[in-house]
Amino acid sequence: MFAKRFFSLDPYVPGEQPKDRPYVKLNANENPYPPSPAVRKAIASFDAAELRLYPDPDANGLRDAIAEMLGGGVTRDMLFVGNGSDEILSFVFFALFDSSLPLCFPEHTYSFYPVYAGYYGIPVRKIPLASDFSIDFGRYLEGESSGIIFPNPNAPTGIYEEPSRIRALLSRYPGDRAVVVDEAYIDFGGESVIPLLAEFPNLVIVRTFSKSFCFAGARLGFVIANPPVIQALFTTKNSFNHFPVDALTQKIGIASCRDPGYYGSINGEIARTRDLFARELGAAGWQVLPSRANFVFARLPGVPGRDVYEAIKRKGVLVRHFDKDGIRDFVRISIGTAEQMGDLLGIMKGDLLK
Ligand SMILES: *Cc1c(COP(=O)(O)O)cnc(C)c1O
Repeated sequence: MFAKRFFSLDPYVPGEQPKDRPYVKLNANENPYPPSPAVRKAIASFDAAELRLYPDPDANGLRDAIAEMLGGGVTRDMLFVGNGSDEILSFVFFALFDSSLPLCFPEHTYSFYPVYAGYYGIPVRKIPLASDFSIDFGRYLEGESSGIIFPNPNAPTGIYEEPSRIRALLSRYPGDRAVVVDEAYIDFGGESVIPLLAEFPNLVIVRTFSKSFCFAGARLGFVIANPPVIQALFTTKNSFNHFPVDALTQKIGIASCRDPGYYGSINGEIARTRDLFARELGAAGWQVLPSRANFVFARLPGVPGRDVYEAIKRKGVLVRHFDKDGIRDFVRISIGTAEQMGDLLGIMKGDLLK
């Protein structure tokens, strides 16, 4: 009864959501703050009768609002929106990466990349991180590949790469193959590579509302690229699902874009909380990788990451552990409110393993 291709699926495993007791959830990089009050207002004023009608398949109002928020010469024809950046990544993989040559990405990175590569039959080359866990860009130029994808900052390390390093990669990589920069965490203190779009038609930037816009439950992501790439993504979308972004999400997405001050303020607060948390944890003997994301990647030398994760969970806080060679000693901790991080610091500095 099942198709043969079904048995080759290797699905993504999200952060756990156990229900045995209330937990402080610091395992999925969700934003601890609610969306802008403008979003609450937009929901309250939404007329349920509007749900009768299909939404705008091109989401023109939302794309205009994103363009206005981004500024810097980004226009509507440089934007594509989708049902979360995960769906967008699926379209990007389908439209841009061939199955004749391997796709390059970091050995330790967002674990949906290998899932989509498997789904579309795209061979992969996983490139080890440098010894300081940064991305080893030189190695992406060795041998032939059909494209490159990496997040900036990278996940789960949190390490940020300067646009000048990405520019150096682009200037040496074949201009007819896509380089996709997944900027899921760029609003927590990094600088976007948007200015490089004018120079490199093969650069594709993926963003999500899930983290910095407090929208993980609403599902909204977007792509910033040159118009031919955007047109290819529209063709892909229209061959799969004509209406990926529903009417309510388009409306609250627009409301979010019109209140950048609010998001600048909460995400600035998250960045300050992160830096303080990392400093204090470091002072207590933990190794903490330098992060510009809304999470930190940390290890207590001599203690397996699994044990750290279990001990923190026993105290009622969920963090994420990746049981993979090279990062097994670490746990990834999402940054919550200052109060949550103060409590966690107390736990991590205390008799954690007793
Ligand atoms: C969270 C995350 C995404 C997925 O975001 P959604 O819009 O919620 O699908 C994409 N890329 C990276 C690197 C992420 O961490």
